[in-house]
Order: sequence, then C-alpha cells, then structure tokens
Amino acid sequence: MGTIMLIQIFACLLLGAVAVPPELEFMDSTLIEDRSTNLDDPKYRLTDAVQPTDMYVDLDVYLQEARFNGFVRLDVQTREENLRQIVMHQKVVSIQTVNVVDSAGRPVNLQFPDPYTTDDYYEILTINFANPIPIGNYSISIRYQGAINLNQFERGFYRGHYFLNNQMRYYATTQFQPYYARMAFPCFDEPQFKSRFIISITRDPSLSPSYSNMPIALTSTAGVRLRETFFPTPIVSAYLVAFTVSDFVETNYTHTDTRPFGIVSRPGVTNQHPYAAETGLEITNVMDDYFGIDYNDMGQGQPMKNDHLAIPDFPAGAMENWGMVNYREAYLLYDENHTNLINKIFIATIMAHELAHKWFGNLVTCFWWSNLWLNESFASLFEYFSAHEANPSLELDDQFVVDQVHSALNWDAGAAATPMNFSDVDSNPSISSHFSVTSYAKGASVLRMMEHFLGPRCFRMGLRYYLRENAYGIGTPEKLYDALRRAAAEDMEFRRLYPNVDVGAILDNWVQNPGSPVVNVHVNMSTGLITFTQERFYVWPNTPIPNTRWHIPITWTHSGNFSFENTRPSFIFSGDSHTIQNTPGHNFVILNIAQSGLYRVNYDDHNWEMIAAYLRRSNNNRLTVHKLNRAQMVNDVLYFVRARKINIDRAFDVLSFLRSETDYYVWAAAIGQLNWIRNRFEHLPTAHELFTRYMLQQMATVINHLGYDERSTDSTSTILNRMQIMNLACNLGHAGCISDSLRKWNSFKQNSSNLVPVNQRRYVYCVGLREGDSSDYDFLMQQYMTSENAADMVVILRALACTKNTTSLNHYLHQTLTNDRIRLHDRTNAFTFALQGNSENLDTVLEFLFQNIAAIREAHGGAARLNININNIAGFLTKFEDIEKFRLWVNQNQVALGSSVFAGAGVVTSAMNQLTWGSQNALDIHTSVLARSSAATVTTSLMLLLSVLAIHFIR
Ligand SMILES: [Zn+2]
Repeated sequence: MGTIMLIQIFACLLLGAVAVPPELEFMDSTLIEDRSTNLDDPKYRLTDAVQPTDMYVDLDVYLQEARFNGFVRLDVQTREENLRQIVMHQKVVSIQTVNVVDSAGRPVNLQFPDPYTTDDYYEILTINFANPIPIGNYSISIRYQGAINLNQFERGFYRGHYFLNNQMRYYATTQFQPYYARMAFPCFDEPQFKSRFIISITRDPSLSPSYSNMPIALTSTAGVRLRETFFPTPIVSAYLVAFTVSDFVETNYTHTDTRPFGIVSRPGVTNQHPYAAETGLEITNVMDDYFGIDYNDMGQGQPMKNDHLAIPDFPAGAMENWGMVNYREAYLLYDENHTNLINKIFIATIMAHELAHKWFGNLVTCFWWSNLWLNESFASLFEYFSAHEANPSLELDDQFVVDQVHSALNWDAGAAATPMNFSDVDSNPSISSHFSVTSYAKGASVLRMMEHFLGPRCFRMGLRYYLRENAYGIGTPEKLYDALRRAAAEDMEFRRLYPNVDVGAILDNWVQNPGSPVVNVHVNMSTGLITFTQERFYVWPNTPIPNTRWHIPITWTHSGNFSFENTRPSFIFSGDSHTIQNTPGHNFVILNIAQSGLYRVNYDDHNWEMIAAYLRRSNNNRLTVHKLNRAQMVNDVLYFVRARKINIDRAFDVLSFLRSETDYYVWAAAIGQLNWIRNRFEHLPTAHELFTRYMLQQMATVINHLGYDERSTDSTSTILNRMQIMNLACNLGHAGCISDSLRKWNSFKQNSSNLVPVNQRRYVYCVGLREGDSSDYDFLMQQYMTSENAADMVVILRALACTKNTTSLNHYLHQTLTNDRIRLHDRTNAFTFALQGNSENLDTVLEFLFQNIAAIREAHGGAARLNININNIAGFLTKFEDIEKFRLWVNQNQVALGSSVFAGAGVVTSAMNQLTWGSQNALDIHTSVLARSSAATVTTSLMLLLSVLAIHFIR
C-alpha cells in the first residue's frame, strides 16, 4: 500500500551490531490461550448444538403504526443426539405460534402445556420437544408480532423522520449489530451462527421499493399492499441483515448489472450523491485488488449490489450490512458549498471502513464479540489505507498516525484499558463497551505495526490466506496468526531478517495485553552503548505498574546519520531490558521511525536536551526529522508532563521548537494536550493567563504562515492545519483571528449569499456569536432550520453554542429537547457544544441539567445518552466551587438520577483529580513557561494563589 515507505534493507543495522535476543525464540504457539470458546457463560451464550442454514424472514410492515406482523422459518441442522430443546434469541413483542417439522415435513410434537418458553432477561426463546429428537434437519416456523422502535438508540428495526417541503415523513431502517436482530425476528443472534437469509417485506404501495441486503427478486401484491422478496444473501451472521422501508430515492452510479453501485437518500438531496458514489466505487476497486477477492463475486451465485444509504437518524456512524450499508447522513452526503474538508474526508474514510468490513466481518466473521478486533481493527486500518490508495491527495496514510495511533496510546494510558481479545465479554453491556478504542484504533495500530514488520507484500499475503481459508466462516485470532505465519514462512526476505521469529506469538502478545508500553532509552555517548527498558505507560502519576512485557518492534536512527526511510524493525525488544552497541559519539537517537510502532519513547535527559537543541536550531533543522517523529515527540513529551515522567523544564525545552513549526501533524499532536494543561489552570487565573499567552506565542509563526484565507494551492494538511490552528487561535483570543472572523461573519449576516468559506465556518460562526448578541444567534438558527446538508448543520449547531447571551443559550439548550430538526444523535453533542462554547456557559448548562434531568433523558434518547451528557461535564468542572456545586446536586438528586448517579459520582472524582493535577503542577510549568516567555513576572502572585489553594484542600 501507498503508506509503506521504501524498504532499505538493514540500513539501521549498519549503525551498530544488533544481536537477536534469546527472547525471540518463542516458538511454542500452543502456549497461546485460545479464547474462542462459547462456554464462558452457558446461560448467556447459545450452544452450537443447533446450526441454522436458511432463514426465511417475512415482515408485514405498518410504518405509520410503528408495528409489523412477522413470520420466520428457520431451517436448522441439529448436531446433538436426543435434543430436548432448541434455544435461540428473541426480543419481539409477542410470539403467537411455533411449529417444528422434520426433514420429511412431519410435525414434531412439542411439550404440553409449554411448547415454548421465553426468557426476557436473556432474550431467549426455548422450544420444548415432547420427546428427544434425533440428529437431523428441521424447520421451525414462528409467527409473532413486532414493534418498530421510535428511538434510534433502541436500535433493532426503528423509525425515523425527515422533512420534505416542511412536511414530516417517516421511514424505518435497521441497526442489528451487535444483538438487536432478535428485536426484528427470532434468530440465532451471535456472530458465529451464519446462514442464508431470504427476506420479504410487505409495505404500503405509496412508499418506494424497500431495500435489503440483496436486490429485489420478486414483487407481488398482498391485497392492496406490495410484497418484495429479495434474493438470498450469502452465508452471513444475523447482525449483518438489514432492511429499509421508506420513500427514499436512489442514484445508480455505474448503471451496470455486474458492478452496481447505488447511493440512496431522502428525496431532494440527490445532488449530494456523486462524491460518495465516485469515492466508494474507487475504494471498492482498491480492495478488490488488494484482497484478491472481488466484492461482486461474493454472492455465492446470487447478484450482489453495493448500496449505501444516507439515514437521517442513525445511532452509530455507519453499519456495514452486506449490500445495504447505512450511514448517518452527514457521513455520506457531500455538497461542495456546505460540506467542509473534515467531513469530506469522513465520507471517504467511513465508506472505506464499511467496505473493508465486506471482507473482514461479513465474509470472515469474528467468532464472538470478544474477538471483535478481527472485524473492527482491520476495518479501521483500511479505513485509512484503502481510502488513501483511492485518493492520495487526502494524505490519509499520515493522518492515521495522529488520528488512530495517538488515540490508541491515549486510551491505553488509562488504567481501565482492556485487551484486544477480552474474555470478559459475556453480557449485553460488556459487548457494547467492547466496541471501544481498543477494538478499533488500538487494533488498527497494532496491525499497522505488524505490516511494517512483515513488509507490505507479506502482510497482504497473510491476509489473503486468512480470507480465502475462512470465507463464509468464522475467524479466530489463531487462524489469523497461522495465516501470517504461513506468509512469513514463504517470504525469504522476512526469514532472512528475522530468523526463528514467530509472527503469531508477537501479534498475540499485543492482542492479549491491555495497555501500551513506553520504551525508556539511555544513550551512553562515550561508549556507544544504548540501553532499552520497557514498562506499561499510565498517564496518571503513581499508578502501580504491572509487570507486562511486550515484544516491541524497534526502529531507530541517530543524529550522526539520520534516516527516516526504513520502518522495518532492526530488532524485537522483549523482556525487561536490552542493549545495543552503537558507534561512540555525541549523537542522539530517535526511536520509532514515522511512529510505525504502538509505543511511546522516553529518552535520558541528555538525549532529550540534544533533541530539543536540534529541533530548535535555525535553518529549519527540524525538517530533517520526519514530521511524524516530530509529532510523536511532542505528543509523548506532553503525556510525560502529565504523568510526571520527564523533567518539566526539559519538556518545555523540547516543545520550544513549536515556535517555528508549521506542520499540521505536529500541531495536531500538540493541541489537545496543550489545551488539557491550560484547562487545568482555570482555577488559577495567573497561571491560566500565562499559559494562554505561551500558547499564542508558540503559534505566532504557524498563524502567519497559514494566513486567514484558503489558497487554491493548499494541500489537504494545510487546510486541516488552518482549521485547527485558527479554531484554537480564536478561542485563545488571538486579535487577528477574531477580527478576520468578525469581518467574514458580518458580511454573511448582512447578506446571506456571501457565504463564509466552507472550511472556515466553524470558527468564523463561533466568533460571530461569541462577540455578537441574540440577533446573531437568531440569524444562525435560521440558517440551521433551512440547511439541507447534515454536516453543515452540525457545524452550525456547534457554533450556535458559542453565544454568550444567556437567553439565547437557554433557547439553544431547550431546542435540544423539542426541535425535530435536531437529530437525536446530535442532541447529546449539542449539550457538549454548549460547554465547549465558552467557559462562562457552565452555570447556564448546569442549571439546565439540574432543572431538566427527566426531560433530557427522554428527549436525548434514554439513560445512556443522559450519562454521556453527565460524563462530558467532567472536563469542564475546572473550579473547586463548581465541583462542589455539582457534587451536592448529585447527592441530593440520587432518586431522580437513577442509574446515572454513578456517572455523576465519577465526574466528581475525575474533576477533582484534574484540578489537583493543575494545582500540583502549576508552579513548575509556570516557571518553565515563564522562562521562555516575554511575559512579565507574576510568580509571586501565583505562589500566593497556590498557598490559598492548599488551604482549601487541607480543611
Ligand atoms: Zn466497523
């Protein structure tokens, strides 16, 4: 793939003698624990005594009444002698009849008086036989009634709405992953049970033809209604079945029967289809080539279609249903006048993610949700790299590092990080929570590290083996390891570079261990000896560190002869420590070339000192260091500051090169953490003010470099950089950013055809509202109400929250309860936008929460959504008085809060920890920043503040 740098064999090895450590010879793969068992919780999991083969699902759908009549026929094979029961999932409204016949069509007697029983807790239907049945084929017929959910977050088969000419219209679609197919039809609702599905939908004739995974095979009448039967699906898990009943319209991009490609949406926005169609088709072509299995050949003899549906109300980002991928509308529809570059990139990456699932997830499926990474890590990897291949100008290969690798490292730095293969997935909530950064970004980062290690061709070969050998079946970690081992064994280059290395064991080490390591490096410049140690990295100081050891692929270079081309590891670092002999000399080292590995690197003080001096030196010296390494160092150093793993003054010494830095990736790696530190000083106004000034001083060069206006020659990363830098600059009060934004805003307000350039809207709108009054808010709210582009609506919604007018802010918050145009999935975000808008908004937002707890729970989509609102408050409770006020409210409202009380208590703890961190570190950071700042000395007043604060805590 295009992201992989040219391999210069052994370039690194020439820098010094490298021995293969004995730890490498971990050949005994039988020691790897196989967690692909379905017996973790016999009550929760189905057994494999019964295997479905064909599922006939026939639904008679009444959209207006939000209900349907259902019928399923499940053809199954039993695999155990003398079965007394067949157990499957159901969560329908009511089951009316259950019949079973054998392969000759003879009725099988069911028990009297309980032919079947249901268990609402485990969501189970048990069919009880009068007599034990022999091994064989059976058909189970079930008639039942079902409900169309009215809340997208209840998932299953749910109803949404949209407006056409100001008239509200309904549609219904599905979200079955991970355990909601059972709400639409009784079934074997675990990923390991794969079968063919033959779907029929009966609908009102005024609607459009329905959509499902496959094309329509047959349309018939059912009284005055129409019944559409779809072609049989390939062998697939129930969670991948989908259908949509609507008056949506389609544009067919390819107009061919052999490679159809459709974009489907509500009527009126088909002009927003072409970008997704062009992008998605190109990405399909890229992956057809890469995997060596064509998308359109996967139908097992049935015609495959490739439809992508823009759904106005959608609980997730998108869902990879085979042949009918659902997207939140903002992630599929593109309007060049109204969709900014970030959202344009999302459309490409999310399509790539969902399309990658056709191979990883749909064709080869994880055995159980504990192995979810076998689906999601691959989808998250190709989300970037196949989209990159389809359109390299989007720079997605490099963005992978600051997006995915950095979020994985951030997530793993918390004490609650779980392993990729997490055996404790044995209940509905634990399944949901395993759809986490671990399964997505962390897994993708580990796979990218493996690709650098194996080499792109060998990695691809391993994946091809895995897909071919397990097509239409189940994947397990062990099957993947075997496929990669086979590819590695056939690759002479790999065998020569890494003799006796077991690829499977190395990958498994990353799969089974929670967290990520930091590699500590000590360089003895007089002897040339470089010593490595490793430990799990925690962001909170004083967290007890377990004795976890990783097999870490090490890439490195040194200042005597910089080379950032070779991302092939020069050795695998296992065990507690390791030394290599480099040429003696006054040269510093840099590890983890282009951050190809999932680890942080902490150097000894002198090595950091030399790095700092080098990066800061004039003549753009820093440019000789790979931009992704500069990004890594900035990100690592800021995390080491948080964890107190580096001398604070040295950290700011390293960061001082930011003053000349203009690169998007480096700033992307810095901004989040600089903001985090700044927010920790909000209760210490002197420190806060100084740190704000420090950040603006660091940003002066990049602000000048970018300028306020987009140029036609700007690259993707330049535009993204302007978006992130100006957004921050305006928030920090940068005078130039604010005045330029106000000029653009006022021109727009005076004449709404003077559109604000699409990529500048987020901060221009925000400044307009922040600096304006209720008339500015009303004007922008009017834009929101008439917009036809979902991504632009989110930009507007975020900016509306920047108002400082209390009446407008209250109006905004109440709109999240009542305004039908604010989608359920955007309402919770709107609440957070209000907190982000201005720190002064906190009081109004808290008051709104305190007064409307039940209404928010209802209008935002349930208790889990309310909990998101509550959890998000933690980062904004930056003053002791506010934390105390919130704590009291939680204590006094435990009944009203219900299960959300735990979220509330967690917020108090988290906010206190963050505030304490600020107090404990303010003086060191203040002193260090002050020494690098042109600001007047204010140390005395800060000391005074700190002593006041200490008293506050002691009492
Ligand atoms: Zn996915």
